[in-house]
Order: sequence, then C-alpha cells, then structure tokens
Amino acid sequence: MPVTGELRRSSADRVPPASSRGNIYERAPVSAGRINRLRPRKMVRWSAQLRGGVEPIDATVGIPRALLYHKYGDLWTAFFETLGVDTVVSPPTNRAILERGSRLAVDETCLPMKIFLGHVDSLMSQADYVLVPRVASLHRGETTCVKFLGAYDVARNSIPDARLIEYDVDVANGKRHATEIRRLGRGFERNPAKVGYAYMRARREANRLHSERALGNEQAALEPGLKVLVVGHPYNIYDEMIGAPVVSILREQGAAVLAAELADASRAKTLSARLSRDVPWTFNKELLGAVEHYREYVDGIVFLVTFPCGPDSLMTELCVRRLEGMPTLVLVLDELQGEAGLRTRLESFVDLLRLRRPKERTATTARVV
Ligand code: SF4
Repeated sequence: MPVTGELRRSSADRVPPASSRGNIYERAPVSAGRINRLRPRKMVRWSAQLRGGVEPIDATVGIPRALLYHKYGDLWTAFFETLGVDTVVSPPTNRAILERGSRLAVDETCLPMKIFLGHVDSLMSQADYVLVPRVASLHRGETTCVKFLGAYDVARNSIPDARLIEYDVDVANGKRHATEIRRLGRGFERNPAKVGYAYMRARREANRLHSERALGNEQAALEPGLKVLVVGHPYNIYDEMIGAPVVSILREQGAAVLAAELADASRAKTLSARLSRDVPWTFNKELLGAVEHYREYVDGIVFLVTFPCGPDSLMTELCVRRLEGMPTLVLVLDELQGEAGLRTRLESFVDLLRLRRPKERTATTARVV
C-alpha cells in the first residue's frame, strides 16, 4: 500500500542551519574528541575501580568511529565530556585502518566489523581505555545482529593487549541502555546525581543533533529534482571507505541523497510490517519501514550492503521483490571494491533514473557484487 500524505516532520520545529540540512555528511564536529595531555593519568584497572565503586578514574577513553558510534557517538562524547572524562575519537576510516582490521579479523567477518577492529587497534596508543559496548537487544521481542553482542569478545580476543571498557544492553533481560551507560559512568564519577545529569544532558544533545539531521532529510524528500534513497546502516552510509564514495558520486551526478536510517524509528517500525512481519533485527526493521516511508518521494533506491552480511541480504531481497515499479540498485561492497567500478554503476543508474523520470515507472533492478 503506498504511503500517502505529508512526510512526518521531526519534533524540532525550527529550521536547522544550512550545514545540517539535506546533507547527511555534514554532521556536527565531535566536540569532545580531544586528548588533554596535561591531566595526570592514574593507570589503574578500570574494572577494579568500577566494582569497588570508590575513586573516580582520571583517564582518556577512546571511542572507535565505527559500528554503534554512528548511532550513539554524540551521546557518548557528550556523556563523558559532562563527567569530565577526556575522549579521543578515532579518525575517519582510511586504508591503513581497514588493513589493520582485516589482518586482525577472521576471513568470514563482515566488512564493518573488520573496520571496527581496525579502529579499536588504532586507539590503543592514544587512549587508556577503549569503549566497546555489547548490545544484544534494544526492544522486547527484537534482537540486534549477533556482531553487536560479540563485539567486545571479538575485540578482546583479536587484540590481546586491548584495554576495553564495556556496558551491556539486553532489554529482553532487563538491561536498558539508559541504566547500563549510567552504571558505566559510576566508574568515573561516584556521585549518582552527577552521572544522571551527565546522561540526561548527553541524551538531550544527541536527540537535538539527530532531529536536525532527520529534519534535513524530510525536507530534502519534499523538494523537487532527482532523489535517491540510500538504504544501509549508518556505519555503512557514513563510513569514509564504504558509503562516502557512493553518496559523493550520486551527488556529483546531480541526485539529492536521502538516508533511510534518518526516518523516524518508531514510525518506520510500524511501516515495516507492510513489507515483512518476520524480520527480528531492530535496525533492519527500521530500514524496511524507511523504504516504505520514502518510496513515494524518491526516483530510485540504492541498497548499500557489505559482504558477507546475512541480515542485510535478507532485507534487500525482501525489498527488491516487493518494490514493484521502483528502480533499485543493490551494491554489495567488500574491502576490494574499487571506485572506478562503483562510479560506472552509479552513473548508469542515475542516467536510467533521469531517462525514465517523466514517464511511468517500470520495474528495473540492477544487481552489482
Ligand atoms: S548487520 Fe551485517 S554488516 Fe552489520 S554487523 Fe551484522 S553482519 Fe555486519
């Protein structure tokens, strides 16, 4: 059933600055990404400190710019900053980080996980501890990809001298994100009121930044001109080595790019039932619903999948089969992907969208591996 009516707008009713509108790459700078070398570091065991629940720790926390950073990065940096803890965020993914991660990971590991390991390893020389949460489930009756549950253990076993800090989120077993991150905060600050304040402040800041980006996306959907929806996880879309080339080539071709991941999550989850009720993974459910949310407003859809991802393969197959009349391009990327091949495929796709623009939509699907 097609979506009708106006696209839902974000609760933020003010128009954000031009830098944050309609451009999914112009994210706010990481405000807390710095190392304060003047502060003395107490090189103490984090776990002993936390469990003893006494002295706050004066240390630098490293945050890998990969996987859940693209969902919780604003919250993490604001949370630690408010607690007075220095943070350092790893740089955007580059060839060296990717190669580092590929060397550490087993061959079957998905590309984002390899990149993640590269980021964790790159932080070892810059931070006292690196943050690697475990996320098993974010909502009842749903799950996340097992890679989020295993990230901590994979990092610990792949990087033997890793100094990691973690918190567990498993809503199905009563471990909520808000509670668990505050528990982590108690390792740095004894006063629970201060930790609670830091969390609330960080939550508010993260929500504000997300609302601005989401509003920009919704506004871009309503503007005239050629529009392409990119469907992929934020850690794929915003990664310098995965999604950045795709988005910049589409833009060079004159297409406005919308990110499916910016659709309102609860509305997207409701809409996902139109395409499938059986997908158990929270993030894929949201992407499915986002496709349904934006399909009436875009000329074509690019699915950004990384090799070898099971949840994304299933979701993409479901969408392509059910999106009758919508031109789709499935890009399955791995670390060997060259930009020349990518460019040719995307240029052809945009040409095709342009050709059929004034005409009725007919089913067109291209698959690229
Ligand atoms: S959903 Fe796919 S790409 Fe993401 S972590 Fe899981 S296997 Fe990797």
